[in-house]
Amino acid sequence: MNFLEERIVKDGIVKAGNVLKVDSFLNHQMDIQLLEEIGREFKRRFADKHVTKILTIEASGIGIACFVAKEFGVPMVFAKKSKSINIAGDVYVAEVESFTHMNKNQVIVSKAFLSEEDHLLIIDDFLANGCALQGMIAIAEAAGATVEGLGIVIEKGFQHGGRAIRNLGYHLESLAIVEAMDEETGKITFRQQ
Ligand code: 5GP
Repeated sequence: MNFLEERIVKDGIVKAGNVLKVDSFLNHQMDIQLLEEIGREFKRRFADKHVTKILTIEASGIGIACFVAKEFGVPMVFAKKSKSINIAGDVYVAEVESFTHMNKNQVIVSKAFLSEEDHLLIIDDFLANGCALQGMIAIAEAAGATVEGLGIVIEKGFQHGGRAIRNLGYHLESLAIVEAMDEETGKITFRQQ
């Protein structure tokens, strides 16, 4: 088991509806030493990529993406959830269905912060059905930016998002891939990587 898998086994809680709670170290209280290690691990896995910017989505991707951006020495930009309809045309827009909140959000990134010159590493905390990643890929495409890779902290391998993104040909790295989790026993099984 790697450092993250060990932590998930120790502190992760399996909830109903295929939800893994990691509020004690990632999604509410944040373990900064662990985040530093996560940042270093993404740098190692994407060391050969030319990355000019890290792209993530609010809210839970932001803290993680900061540490990745620090490792690469580049800015981080996050897609914001927006209620107002964009009429000015100064933002890239994508629609993202939230797995945990079961609603749809319009997310935006200002055109000032993404361009065709950018080479992006897209980061998020979880990968379930892939809606958040697809939304960020759509924004990158709208900007004409290059997606160098996608980095996920915890992929739920029993949901279809990971397969869909890999089938599109993207370089996707997940630090832990949960193969199965049992709400009754709390047992979590990881995919061997
Ligand atoms: P997707 O868009 O891939 O269906 O879901 C990914 C998004 O939903 C992530 O940004 C994450 O915030 C949230 N999410 C999905 N599954 C889980 C989960 O099991 N636990 C937590 N804490 N968040 C999740």
